Amino acid sequence: MGKKAEKKTEPVVEVSIDRNKPGWFIDLEWYRENNRSFFNLAKGYLCPECREQLWQEVSPEEIFATIKSCCSQKQGFFTSKLPVLDSIFRLFLANGNQPLELEELAQQLSERREDTYHIPTESLSRLLEDEQYYGIRHTSG
Ligand SMILES: [Zn+2]
Repeated sequence: MGKKAEKKTEPVVEVSIDRNKPGWFIDLEWYRENNRSFFNLAKGYLCPECREQLWQEVSPEEIFATIKSCCSQKQGFFTSKLPVLDSIFRLFLANGNQPLELEELAQQLSERREDTYHIPTESLSRLLEDEQYYGIRHTSG
């Protein structure tokens, strides 16, 4: 506390969601509907340096841009020890919330987690349909 946060000077990476691409994504509307704070959840995924810089609430776009360009690049952001849903949430934080279909999700999960285990898309589908914590929904509603 009492420490002045220095303003970042480097330009923020543009993050725009391609709404025409079908797939699963982090639905910020879900957070509003459920009275949940995306910022509070997402800030737990920032690296220590960014957490210090973004102590004040910033827009979801800035969170996505920061995690995409910085925090997700750091070692330990993805590990095979993390729960699958948590890894999926990290995947969207890392890709700027671009929608992904189940096959793409399964593919990227095993790549990023360096997992030899390829999660069946049926299991992914079940996980995502039941989840009530990360606000991951399909673009088709
Ligand atoms: Zn960072």
